Amino acid sequence: MESQELMTEIMEQVTKRNPGEPLFHQAVQEVLESLEPAIEKHPEFVEAGILNRLVEPERQIIFRVPWVDDQGQVQVNRGFRVQFNSAIGPYKGGMRFHPSVNLGIIKFLGFEQILKNALTGLPIGGGKGGSDFDPKGKSNGEVMRFCQSFMTELYRHIGADVDVPAGDIGVGAREIGYLYGQYKRLTGLYNGVLTGKGLTYGGSLTRTEATGYGLVYFLEEMLKAKRQTLAGKTVVISGSGNVAIYAAEKVQQLGATVVAMSDSNGYIYDPRGIDLDTVKQTKEIERKRIRSCVSCHPSYQYFEDSQGIWSIKCDIALPCATQNELDEESALKLVANGVIAIAEGANMPSTPEAIKVFQDNNILYAPAKASNAGGVATSLLEMSQNSMRCNWTFDEVDAKLKDIMTSIYQQTSRAAWEYGCEGNLAKGANIAGFLKVANAMMAQGVV
Ligand code: NDP
Repeated sequence: MESQELMTEIMEQVTKRNPGEPLFHQAVQEVLESLEPAIEKHPEFVEAGILNRLVEPERQIIFRVPWVDDQGQVQVNRGFRVQFNSAIGPYKGGMRFHPSVNLGIIKFLGFEQILKNALTGLPIGGGKGGSDFDPKGKSNGEVMRFCQSFMTELYRHIGADVDVPAGDIGVGAREIGYLYGQYKRLTGLYNGVLTGKGLTYGGSLTRTEATGYGLVYFLEEMLKAKRQTLAGKTVVISGSGNVAIYAAEKVQQLGATVVAMSDSNGYIYDPRGIDLDTVKQTKEIERKRIRSCVSCHPSYQYFEDSQGIWSIKCDIALPCATQNELDEESALKLVANGVIAIAEGANMPSTPEAIKVFQDNNILYAPAKASNAGGVATSLLEMSQNSMRCNWTFDEVDAKLKDIMTSIYQQTSRAAWEYGCEGNLAKGANIAGFLKVANAMMAQGVV
């Protein structure tokens, strides 16, 4: 069978078997389209049904999460864990708490995680989980009771050598702490079953910063290949959560100016630069909306339209909020305003049409799978320290993170070149990650 025919057949099967899950379909479609050159070179993968197996999760767990709110009312949410692929190591991937979460979202994220984790060069498989619970506006007590109930089911499916969840949207240090406390109470184990833990109970220095810093290390490599640096560049960053804040911190350290940041309500803009301490205080500590930053900085302009951030003139755009946040229209605006590079901090933040605009206009484009892998890579470094019962310094972990991101850039650009799509890092990332997973699956037989 021709490789194109095979891809169409697999895509039809995925759509039929997973109805009503457009984000999962989008993620699979993007990967399959880019794997054609690899499949043509490796017919043995087709014979062994590697692609058919890759798109089907090994295990999908759905469970009820009942909890009691501050008014004494019983609330019920739904919990998910999708253990997608364990060919190269225990399942690893974050948990998302957001009202939009459903099985399709978790599957799309879990699928992306397989190839991302492979790119890190570390022994970790792909998984993802979460719930339609919304931590926003909840008291600490409510968040704790929800997390305890969530873990009361999840604990039987995870383990330090089985499946190691971490944070994602809506799951930060507070949630990981509550989840870990309950895991420990239920199992009596004190081990590396979760990553993103606090520094006083097994967390790793640099984990908080890792996804954002890693994104910028990847961006630096991409710019270096074109003999450019970050110094003096203007940068627009969507989101103001974990990834966005530490991407902003690193680009500022490297001499760039962050002129705008957003949340799901709107964005702040100041051509002289955004003060990151204020954003951290507002979003990380006070858990308020980004528009509150204006009260400390009257020069900031606030716009109640998070999409509008892409109409700002900038050299570099870092989408760090959520999936499909950057569409074709926004991409055309960025290009018209002279953007030179896009690096994705969020998972699948650019629509397929937006990616085409970047590629057609020769804009440097760093795909999430490669550019945001620093978080999961540092999670593995946290697991290593837990196993070894030791703590590395911030600089030690940061140096390892930088090496890993440089290696991901090199593998990605090399694969693109070897498979006839030089400069196309999206294809290069998919091919490089896929080859590792496919070879491991081949070696382990039909399982
Ligand atoms: P957080 O919950 O810390 O932050 C998410 C941020 O995005 C918040 O500022 C949120 O605003 C904002 N946001 C959400 N939806 C929109 C929208 N439609 N428009 C503008 N802003 C929006 O999550 P993370 O920073 O951890 O995750 C962000 C992205 O990075 C996700 O795609 C995640 O999957 C990905 N990622 C995260 C990793 C990690 O280590 N944390 C690792 C790899 C990828 P508000 O405050 O209003 O909700």
